Amino acid sequence: MDTNCLFCKIINGDIPANKLFEDDEVLAFWDIEPQAPKHFLVIPKKHIAGPADVADIDQKLIGKLITTGAKIAEENGIPQYRMVMNNGAEAGQTVFHLHMHVLGGRAMNWPPG
Ligand code: 5GP
Ligand code: ZN
Repeated sequence: MDTNCLFCKIINGDIPANKLFEDDEVLAFWDIEPQAPKHFLVIPKKHIAGPADVADIDQKLIGKLITTGAKIAEENGIPQYRMVMNNGAEAGQTVFHLHMHVLGGRAMNWPPG
């Protein structure tokens, strides 16, 4: 828990979020500024600043972000989607608590901007 971290505050309930799923390890919630018709985030409850800070011991937890995101997408009628993690400001990371974006509901372009 990082007391200055926005997503840690969502995890501990200090800041509200539109939650989709939660257990003792992960939390999923709709993005406040959606970039597609369906856009949610899946985060570990453990504070990890970003992809570069994932330790070997976290590998199972990070895999769970994918299985959780895929299950939520299926349950919410999003059969096709893009999963994204940004590492560093230049890559577009604005919140420094690891999160996986799941975006769907429209055709996606490649390469991303
Ligand atoms: P990043 O740019 O770091 O990869 O993604 C951060 C994401 O968090 C953005 O898509 C942004 O819209 C979302 N976000 C930022 N603040 C909040 C918030 O308070 N609530 C929710 N639900 N999403 C947020
Ligand atoms: Zn955090």
